[in-house]
Amino acid sequence: MIIVMLGAPATGKGTIAGLLEKSLNIPQVSTGDIFRKMIKEKTELGKLADSYISKGNLVPDEVTIKIVEERLNQEDVKNGIILDGFPRTVNQAQALDEILKAKGKKVDLVVNLETPKEEIIERVVSRRVCSNPECKAIYNVIMNPPKVDGICDICGSKVIQRDDDTEETITKRLSNYFELTEPLVEYYKKQEKLYNAVVSKSINKLGKDVAKDIEEYVKKGDF
Ligand code: AMP
Repeated sequence: MIIVMLGAPATGKGTIAGLLEKSLNIPQVSTGDIFRKMIKEKTELGKLADSYISKGNLVPDEVTIKIVEERLNQEDVKNGIILDGFPRTVNQAQALDEILKAKGKKVDLVVNLETPKEEIIERVVSRRVCSNPECKAIYNVIMNPPKVDGICDICGSKVIQRDDDTEETITKRLSNYFELTEPLVEYYKKQEKLYNAVVSKSINKLGKDVAKDIEEYVKKGDF
C-alpha cells in the first residue's frame, strides 16, 4: 500500500507516519530525514540541499524526485511505503504517478493534515527531534517532552531543535507550502484519494489520535 502524507510543516506528518509505520507495518520514508542525513554526512548533495533548507525553501524538484525514485527501487519498500513530505509540488506528484505506473503501482491513500496557522508556529518552535538519524523520535517541549530533559526516551541520544525550526524560517516554509504544496490537495481530491484530518489541540486531536483513526480507516478499507 502506498500512502502519501500531506500537510503544512509541523502538522504532525512525521509523528503520524512513524506511528502508522508500526501499526500498519509499512516503512516510513521522509525526504526531510534523507536530506538531514546527507547534510550531517556533509555530502555534496547534502551541501546543496542545505542551501535551500536553511532558507526555508524547497530543494529543487529534479534533485528530490531522483532521490525518491532511487529509494522506491529498494527492496524494503516493494510491498508499500508511507511517503512523508513527498510530493510537495504538482511536478513531484506527476513524477511520482509516472514512476509508480511504470512499476504497475499507484498512490492508494493521501492523508491531508490541517492545523490552525497560529498553532503551527507554536508547534514549530516547541518541536524537538532526536539527533540520531536512525531513531527519528519527535517531541514537543510543551505537549510531549522527553522523560529526561534533552535525552531521547527511545535511544538515549541528544534531543535537539531542528536548524530550520525557527520563527523566521517557518514563515517562508508556510508561504512555500500555500503556494507550491497546497495545490496537491485538489490534485489528489480529483483522484478521489484524499483523507482529510484536523490535528489541533483546540478539538483535542493530536497526532496519535489521528494516527489511530487512519489505522482503523485503512484496516476497514479495501486497499
Ligand atoms: P520536513 O522534514 O518534511 O519538514 O522537510 C525539511 C525540509 O526539507 C523542507 O522544508 C524542504 O526544504 C526540504 N524538503 C523535504 N521534502 C521535500 C520535497 N518533497 N521537495 C523539496 N524539498 C523538500
